[in-house]
Amino acid sequence: MTKKTKEPKLDFTTDWAYAPAPEDTKHISLKKQYDLFINGEFVKPNSKKYFATYNPATEEKIAEVAEADEKDVDTAVKAARKAFDKWSKISAKERGKYIYRIARLIQERAREFAVIETMDGGKPIRESRDIDVPLAANHFFYYAGWTDKLEYAFPNRTPKPLGVAGQIIPWNFPLLMAAWKIAPALATGNTVVLKPAETTSLTALKLAELIRDSGLPDGVVNIITGAGRTGTAIVKHPDINKIAFTGSTDVGKMIQKAIAGTDKKLTLELGGKAANIIFEDAPIDQAVEGIVNGIFFNQGHVCCAGSRLFVQESVADVVIRKLKDRMETLIVGDPLDKNTDIGAINSKEQLSKINNYLKIGKEEGADIYQSSCSILGKGYFCKPTLFLNASQSHRVVQEEIFGPVLTVQTFRTIEEVIEKANNIPYGLSAGVWTDKGSKIFNLTSKLRAGVVWANTYNKFDPTSPFGGYKESGFGREGGLHGLMPYLKF
Ligand code: NAP
Ligand code: MG
Repeated sequence: MTKKTKEPKLDFTTDWAYAPAPEDTKHISLKKQYDLFINGEFVKPNSKKYFATYNPATEEKIAEVAEADEKDVDTAVKAARKAFDKWSKISAKERGKYIYRIARLIQERAREFAVIETMDGGKPIRESRDIDVPLAANHFFYYAGWTDKLEYAFPNRTPKPLGVAGQIIPWNFPLLMAAWKIAPALATGNTVVLKPAETTSLTALKLAELIRDSGLPDGVVNIITGAGRTGTAIVKHPDINKIAFTGSTDVGKMIQKAIAGTDKKLTLELGGKAANIIFEDAPIDQAVEGIVNGIFFNQGHVCCAGSRLFVQESVADVVIRKLKDRMETLIVGDPLDKNTDIGAINSKEQLSKINNYLKIGKEEGADIYQSSCSILGKGYFCKPTLFLNASQSHRVVQEEIFGPVLTVQTFRTIEEVIEKANNIPYGLSAGVWTDKGSKIFNLTSKLRAGVVWANTYNKFDPTSPFGGYKESGFGREGGLHGLMPYLKF
């Protein structure tokens, strides 16, 4: 009998039985130095300068990353412009095939992406493995499906691509934000110059390797690394047709000013300070899980984090007691350990920003409560924190902390909580916990938030649009809506 040879099997599932042990990281192929991905190849930066990227859980340097200057941005834009002529003309079906291929390659290399994401950014491996990486692949799958259906998506109109899109993303969901940006741009026939955040460039560069391997025509996607200066050069480049930015409200405002008077199109996905509202008729245990997930997911580095808790007065004591008990069970520590709930804060700067808010909150008179967990001596960590008895005027209530810090306020009536929830410069998301469908419908129409979750929180799907009101920005990503910012009619 001939011995059966095993077919090479592609791992398209993401529900692994185990998370990689720290020693598995040795098998992750990281280079010592990363160059810029321009016109289908990795090239040295014009300045010859590189900056270090660190593992925030160990403070160890992982790799060096090229710093792109204005000249590199110009080279990347020229490559994208040249590629646009061809890419925008190939058949939609063909375009879709390339995007599907990228999605499948992400799934195939999911494990590697998850480990690198966790090492470079500090998020728990369970989250990169089960959420970030599968969602990134799903985004490419979803938008691949739209490529040859644009005329059905926009009946009686003739959608056309804009040209070259300059895309700038933050450090909290590095791979996922790259997918949110690149997939709809490609599906609509645009070409891309993307800049990841300085502290978390590695998965975008891994994506660049994958894109090269996928055979996508040269120059369709260019990934260039660097700090704010590189971002500014993308924003100011005269031959870019669209800027898609996700990041802080301050930088978003600067970008809006910088492109005023030009014919560049703009979408801004900015900060948030979401209200998570618990009514007395809510399923309390589920709501407590929703509060924990709402604020402690990804160390609270989430633009739509449920960072302001509103609890109806009659159940406030029980909710807060259960919340404190639940916080005691959260494991803060090594992000590569599959049991970790809260990983490392992304950078030293972000940790000092959070610590400063802890000081401000105490000075303002809110009562601080932290879980009794111990924190590793090395690396950047923050204990899960509550600010009880917070007031609407406190800075910790009004400003985005972007860490595992939750302010707690109580309310009596629905009118009162709507007013307080909306009395904030941001309008990205909100959560409502109640047994009554009518209450949910009432609140979703009155809360000024782009996304409102009911009896759940922080759930994402490529089919559903995401974006904000007020200082949380404008334009939508995801779903059919996410195609529009990349099209002209
Ligand atoms: P950030 O400081 O605004 O940076 C975002 C990106 O812009 C990074 O790539 C950054 O590069 C670059 N950049 C910095 N200065 C620039 C400039 N003057 N011109 C052009 N680009 C510039 O934000 P972040 O600290 O990385 O991310 C956290 C913020 O993002 C939070 O406010 C969060 O709410 C928001 N966010 C929003 C969403 C959403 O969908 N609404 C999603 C995720 C995050 P460097 O990293 O090298 O500085
Ligand atoms: Mg890093």
